[in-house]
Amino acid sequence: MSTRKPTPDTPANRRKDGRSPDGDVLDTMKRPLRDLRISVTDRCNFRCPYCMPKEVFGRDYKFLKRGEILTFEEIRRLARVFAAGGVKKLRLTGGEPTLRRDLPTLIEMLSDIQGIEDLTLTTNGSLLKNMAGDLKAAGLDRVTVSLDSLNDAVFREMNDVDFPVQRVLDGIQAAAEVGLTPIKVNMVVKKGVNEGDVLEMARRFRGTGHIVRFIEYMDVGTSNGWRMDDVVAAKEIVAAIDAEFPLEALDPQYKGEVANRWGYRDGAGEIGVIASVSQPFCGDCTRARLSADGQLYTCLFAVIGHDLRKLVRGEESDEEIGEFLDSLWSRRKDRYSELRASQTESGDGKVEMSYIGG
Ligand code: SAM
Ligand code: SF4
Ligand code: SF4
Repeated sequence: MSTRKPTPDTPANRRKDGRSPDGDVLDTMKRPLRDLRISVTDRCNFRCPYCMPKEVFGRDYKFLKRGEILTFEEIRRLARVFAAGGVKKLRLTGGEPTLRRDLPTLIEMLSDIQGIEDLTLTTNGSLLKNMAGDLKAAGLDRVTVSLDSLNDAVFREMNDVDFPVQRVLDGIQAAAEVGLTPIKVNMVVKKGVNEGDVLEMARRFRGTGHIVRFIEYMDVGTSNGWRMDDVVAAKEIVAAIDAEFPLEALDPQYKGEVANRWGYRDGAGEIGVIASVSQPFCGDCTRARLSADGQLYTCLFAVIGHDLRKLVRGEESDEEIGEFLDSLWSRRKDRYSELRASQTESGDGKVEMSYIGG
């Protein structure tokens, strides 16, 4: 773990070459690259309609083949290059990351990379009960568990494979017992589906040390049939909870934190609200995403990936890959959500992917 303190980004400290005071490459909006989300598989045992609707991800869907997916060695190598370029946080995701065979081995391989201060995993929690101990022993710091409802019938409908909510709750408990804490519990709120479960979710996890994060339903990809009307705005979510359990706004813990933090006034902990649709936070976005087959995306809504697998399987040295990443990041202009918001306000509807480009 690094103990290096970042140099404050004041005008006096700013460098002439466009880099941050610490020498990190900044994009065109002065954002450094700090977080890397690594997808370790494109497969999932759930079919949440907002993410992998059955009609699209059915029997005929062509998932990546084994040889197309980055190996553990390739992931580690790339993660080290990213860490050398300023990344401090790694999050493993998917698909469902716990489906990747020998996941704890990968975690062990990532856990001692110099400069990485936080190694986390986002999971649907379905396999967590039996895996939590191995994940912790391998060096994982924390987990985020997605849980859209505590109501078993609603939950089964939202995972669309009839998976019982109790098994996810058991997974959360197992993760807490082995110290994968603080646990974040992600709830995507969709109008008319689970908005009625917001309060119950807040009530259940108040006072446990776990942090529920309510997420506005987003227009990721093209297959979920997203409509603005399906979004429950963050301020409505906060108002509903505040009416029952009074809240106060908390300061962000670090620049680039995606969730707005709210504390219970009675000291029973905090919640987070991720308002990607109603209050976009592109200005602070320090994230990049690596797909399971090694395509790098500099925005969640980007349509063009950059092929790192070709580099990692080719002749390029680590330094050359690092230079490629620096050059790519320095040209980054992504701010999809901000553009979507301004388009919506002007009544033109959602901005097209083809408009935002790569
Ligand atoms: N399978 C794992 C899980 O569900 O936690 C990891 C991958 S999943 C794509 C990561 C997160 O994205 C989950 O918390 C999920 O709820 C969220 N997500 C997926 N589609 C979304 C959408 N359309 N809007 C908002 N959040 C979404
Ligand atoms: Fe699977 Fe996670 Fe997507 Fe649900 S949100 S379908 S659990 S990848
Ligand atoms: Fe970051 Fe793109 Fe999301 Fe904006 S829309 S916060 S740039 S991932």
